[in-house]
Amino acid sequence: MTDTSDSASETTDLRDRDPEARARALQSLLTEKGLLSADAVDDVIGTYEEEIGPQIGAKVVARAWTDPEFEERLLDDGIAAVAELDVQVDDEVMELRVVENSPDTHNLIVCTLCSCYPWAVLGLPPTWYKTPAYRSRAVDEPRALLREEFDTEIPDDVSLEVWDSNSEIRYMVLPQRPPGTEGASEDELRELVTRNAMIGVERLA
Ligand code: FE
Repeated sequence: MTDTSDSASETTDLRDRDPEARARALQSLLTEKGLLSADAVDDVIGTYEEEIGPQIGAKVVARAWTDPEFEERLLDDGIAAVAELDVQVDDEVMELRVVENSPDTHNLIVCTLCSCYPWAVLGLPPTWYKTPAYRSRAVDEPRALLREEFDTEIPDDVSLEVWDSNSEIRYMVLPQRPPGTEGASEDELRELVTRNAMIGVERLA
């Protein structure tokens, strides 16, 4: 191995190890140089925390659970269906594919190449989503990954589908509606939907 590739892999390792410190360092540098104001950073973070986040996805899921026609449109064309709820998907994303869990199929999303994620509906990705361990185990041994890291047991008779995201196609899991929620309102159902269930590392039913 040459010196160049050694230092390149070291850089990658550092990046994986402490993204938070890196972000803080970058922010102070940019602020110091007057390229970025602290207010602008707070604005962006606030938007992702409060306006864009898994609560958008939860709204989409609760609507699908209560409106079969919406569900059909959602599974058919995710971008068009979420637009009905005023959710705008990034221009570069060509397709938002919503994959539906059922009693015999469980779905899991990953980006094996980097960290593509359905930002428009789930907000900021969790740190573990971007780790090399999650990205490789989701493909190599998804059942063990779900059991060991998320306490989620996928029974042997349930097939497990893994969807690899990329810059053009993003995936979101439509979890099964939990049993015993027949009388629940759309707003009540929304509260039951977790980010992890929409990634597929958790089951609600
Ligand atoms: Fe990616």
